[in-house]
Amino acid sequence: MTISTTTAPSDNNFDYIIIGAGLAGLSLAVSLLKNKITGRKRILLLEKSQQQYQGRTWCFWENGADWWDSLVSKTWSIATFYEGTRQLAKELAPMKYKMVHSDDYRRYVFNILRKQQNIHLLSRDVVDCKDLGTTVAVHTEEGLFFAPLVFDSRFQLAELERHKGHILYQQFIGWFIKSEEPIFDPQKACLMDFRATQDTHVSFCYVLPKTAHEALVEFTIFSKQIYSDQYLQALLTTYIDEHIDTFSFNVLGKETGVIPMTDYAFGSPSNRIIPIGTAGGCSKPSSGYTFTFVQQHVKHIVQQLAQDRLPLPFHKLQAKRFLFYDRVMLRILKEFPEKGASLFFSMFHRNNANSMFKFLANQSTLWQEINIFRKLPVLFFLRMAWREIVRDK
Ligand SMILES: Cc1cc2nc3c(=O)[nH]c(=O)nc-3n(C[C@H](O)[C@H](O)[C@H](O)COP(=O)(O)OP(=O)(O)OC[C@H]3O[C@@H](n4cnc5c(N)ncnc54)[C@H](O)[C@@H]3O)c2cc1C
Repeated sequence: MTISTTTAPSDNNFDYIIIGAGLAGLSLAVSLLKNKITGRKRILLLEKSQQQYQGRTWCFWENGADWWDSLVSKTWSIATFYEGTRQLAKELAPMKYKMVHSDDYRRYVFNILRKQQNIHLLSRDVVDCKDLGTTVAVHTEEGLFFAPLVFDSRFQLAELERHKGHILYQQFIGWFIKSEEPIFDPQKACLMDFRATQDTHVSFCYVLPKTAHEALVEFTIFSKQIYSDQYLQALLTTYIDEHIDTFSFNVLGKETGVIPMTDYAFGSPSNRIIPIGTAGGCSKPSSGYTFTFVQQHVKHIVQQLAQDRLPLPFHKLQAKRFLFYDRVMLRILKEFPEKGASLFFSMFHRNNANSMFKFLANQSTLWQEINIFRKLPVLFFLRMAWREIVRDK
C-alpha cells in the first residue's frame, strides 16, 4: 500500500501536520476531513515506512456503530474466559466485541485521503519537531515543513528506559489458523484463556473465531522484559497443542508486536505538538487496549479545532482516578504476576460485562467502580493502593 508521492509540495506551510500513518494518524486525518470546518484546512501527513507497517488486528467493544463499522470483519456477542479449571461465558449485550484489521482500515482511509486536494501525503522520516513560538518546524530527512499545530505518533520503546515508575511490555504473537475440522464456535470470542503457566509473567491466549474453521489465536504476555519471537512462538504452539482440538491446521497469516503498559507521563513540552496514539498515552496502562482511546482523543481534537481551541493531550481528558487504578493494577501485575489470571477472571466472573467494559474504557461511574472493587480481595488491593500513594513521597 503506497500512500503517495515522494515529491514535496511547493508550499511547505500547513494548518496541521500529522506524523505517522498508523491507527492514530489515520483516524485523525479522516476525522478532520469529515468535519466541515477542519475538513477545509491544509493538512500534511508524513509517514516514514508505509510499506513496512506490520499488519495487526484491532479489537474493541462498542455499543452502537461509528464510521469504522463497515470495516469490522467480525463481531461477537458472547465472550468466554478460562482460568485453571474455571470457565465462564458472558453475554455482552448491549455491547459487541468487534475486530478490524489494520490493512482494511488503512486501505479505506488512504482511499479517502487520496481524493482530497487539501491533504498531502508524503513519505518522510521525521527527525525532529521544534516549537518556534507561533509555528512548529518539522524536520525530515529531506526537508522542513511548518504548521502551527503538529500531531505526533512517533514512539520508541527506548523512551521508557529512564522511567522510574511502572513498565511492563505487552507482547503478542498471533496466528490466523485454518483447521480441517469445524472446531470453533464463531459466536464466541475467547478474550482471555489463562491456562498457561503464570509464574514470571501474566500469560494468556485469545481465540477469535471468524468461522467454524478459522480463528485468530494470539498469545499475549505482560512481562518486565521483551522476549524473542521464538520464545513466544513456543508458548503459542504449546497452547494450540493443548487447547485447540485439531489434528491439522494451516497458518494463513501472522502478527507480532510489543506495546508498553506504563504510568509514564506521555506528553510534550509544547502545547503546539500534541502526541497521539500510543505515543500520546492512549494505550491503557493495565490492559493495552488502545483503539477506543485513540478514537476518544481524536474526537476531542476535532471538536476543539472546529471551535478554534487548542486540543489537550489525552491524559488531561481522563479522570485522574483511572490512572491511579492503572498504577495499582500495574504494581500487582509486576510484583505478583501469578495473581493476574485469577484477578482478571474474577472481575469478569463477578460483574456484568457491560460494567466491566465501561470500567476498562474509563467510562464507569465511581459507584460502578466501588461495586467492582468490593467483589475483589479488598485488603490486598488496599495494601497495593497504599503503596502507590506513598510511592512518590
Ligand atoms: C499485534 C498487535 C495487536 C494489537 N491489538 C490490539 C487490539 O486488539 N485492540 C487495541 O485496542 N489495541 C491493540 N493493539 C495496540 C494498538 O492499537 C496498536 O499498537 C496501534 O497500532 C497503535 O496506534 P498508533 O497510531 O499509536 O501507532 P501505529 O499504528 O504503530 O502507527 C505509528 C505510525 O507512525 C510511523 N512513524 C513512526 N516514526 C516515524 C517517523 N520518525 N516519521 C514518520 N512516521 C513515523 C510508523 O511507521 C507508523 O506507521 C495491538 C498492537 C499490536 C502490536
